[in-house]
Amino acid sequence: MTQELLEIVRQLRVELAWAREAGWRNFPAAPEQKKTSRDLTGESFEAPVQDAAELPAVVSMQLADNADLSTIRAHIGDCTRCKLSGLGRKNIVFGVGNPDAEVMFVGEGPGADEDIQGEPFVGKAGQLLTRIIEGGMGVKREDVYIANIVKCRPPQNRDPEDDEISECEPFLRAQIRAVRPKVLVALGRCAAQTLLRDKTPISRLRGQWREYEGIPLMPTYHPAYLLRNPAEKRPVWEDIQAVLKKLGRSTPSENDV
Ligand code: SF4
Repeated sequence: MTQELLEIVRQLRVELAWAREAGWRNFPAAPEQKKTSRDLTGESFEAPVQDAAELPAVVSMQLADNADLSTIRAHIGDCTRCKLSGLGRKNIVFGVGNPDAEVMFVGEGPGADEDIQGEPFVGKAGQLLTRIIEGGMGVKREDVYIANIVKCRPPQNRDPEDDEISECEPFLRAQIRAVRPKVLVALGRCAAQTLLRDKTPISRLRGQWREYEGIPLMPTYHPAYLLRNPAEKRPVWEDIQAVLKKLGRSTPSENDV
């Protein structure tokens, strides 16, 4: 089977997995397929189409709805499902934190430091996120769960592209289902727009409660944006206060952030 055909099969399976998750049912059964080929004498003969079981494991995208985090990580493997795998990544940055966290933060994708260390939000923006979590929320970084929309670093920190997001997002969805947090916080435009399927600018999305698969979701600015625009810390503070209120917690002093 050619690489092109394998790619088509893989894409079809991704689409089917998405369609099933979206509630589509009763796909027509695939007819038994045979192909007609010619041997070296020119005689035609019927050859069986390669069985799905013979396809490389990479074509399988189905994960059980109740897969735990370690199963999801094992399923990702040394992933080459999108082109970010071949653009200089050093590590797949899966996620970090408490698998039973009440709050889960979702960012865009790993940067240079995250790529090297294999952990999300460890660079300057990550340090600010840690201050927001520990100072602003009054909980330890290890008590929340942190992941990204894409698990591999986009080169030059460019935005993840649509095809990369559509390949990688099922892993994040599985992580969210595994952690089942009480509140999701989408950090920045890419995370908010991807999870909400809403292209509204982040400046208008932030601060407004939405839902992702029944989980309250608060969009807010990305810490990297705050590093460039410190004046926007105030709205993020307000968003974090709203998260604490949703959890029924008291809010620390603003000076702690
Ligand atoms: S970004 Fe996601 S889908 Fe793409 S190679 Fe990395 S883990 Fe795989």
